[in-house]
Amino acid sequence: MDRWTSTNGSSVAQNLTLRCPSCGAGLNFLPDRVSCLNETCIYSADAFPLVEGQPVLIDFADTIFPRSNYEQGNGAVFRRDLSRAGLRSRLHVLVNGTNPVAAKNCELFLKLTKKERKCPRVLVVGGGAIGLGADKLYSDPGVELIGTDVYASPYTSLLCDAHKLPFESGTLDGVWIQAVLEHVLDPAAVVAEVHRVLKPNGLVYAETPFIQQVHERAYDFTRFTKSGHRWLFRRFEEISSGTVTGPAIALLWSIRYLLLALGAGKIFSRVISLLFFWIRYLDLLCNPKQAADAAGGVFFLGRRSEAELSALSLLKYYEG
Ligand SMILES: [Zn+2]
Repeated sequence: MDRWTSTNGSSVAQNLTLRCPSCGAGLNFLPDRVSCLNETCIYSADAFPLVEGQPVLIDFADTIFPRSNYEQGNGAVFRRDLSRAGLRSRLHVLVNGTNPVAAKNCELFLKLTKKERKCPRVLVVGGGAIGLGADKLYSDPGVELIGTDVYASPYTSLLCDAHKLPFESGTLDGVWIQAVLEHVLDPAAVVAEVHRVLKPNGLVYAETPFIQQVHERAYDFTRFTKSGHRWLFRRFEEISSGTVTGPAIALLWSIRYLLLALGAGKIFSRVISLLFFWIRYLDLLCNPKQAADAAGGVFFLGRRSEAELSALSLLKYYEG
């Protein structure tokens, strides 16, 4: 994929203003070399790596992703099932279902970003694989999608660490960050970056787990209650928020991880979990407020704001 083409191929992102993740200066793009324009910056002489034709715009002096990850291969530290056609992915969907909440929120996100701009520029953080329910984001020709992740895939245009997004401030219309914030060391720093790169009134959509077990080994750090998630996005005006999955899905994850802890093995524990697939329908019967206290995951859809939510209004937020 040409690095100047947006991820969904809708338009050419020549006006995309990228910057050095270390010093913030502009970048010098040559066909086989991307470096920093600031001669005093380490990335002026020591160019950024390229993997599968995509620049790796990571400040290696301040990240948990070492440069050596990109010297061979595409930077992925796990085997990724990009098509979701593998046995494990299919068993996961059979037990846990799809993500209708994200699909509905995706439609609203697209509608609102298009209201602000004819062909909105949307950044996907952690978009190496299409998130469950996010398909419309990728199939909509009316959106200029910039897919990013810490490994290269057909769905990414460039690689970056979300703690230091390589985009100029106020240049993006929307940011989609689904199932990512649990995998970053400093979620508040990442959300501050999302706030920085968005235009005034730009939109953010985030989905983050609450009651969910460790799922990317060494790269899994944090969980959020619905209120904690709202506080993380306190410099955003809320459009919508709620649970992505309820206590029943959380219970299904617990059953599988109990089986794993008992030594059942990855595939066998997923197969045994199939016997309990019916549990997920109990989420449909739950009281929404009570369910939020034990949700598998939460979401937040909001608009960039200069005002900040007060701590006291956060208490009211919990009461609904
Ligand atoms: Zn630099």
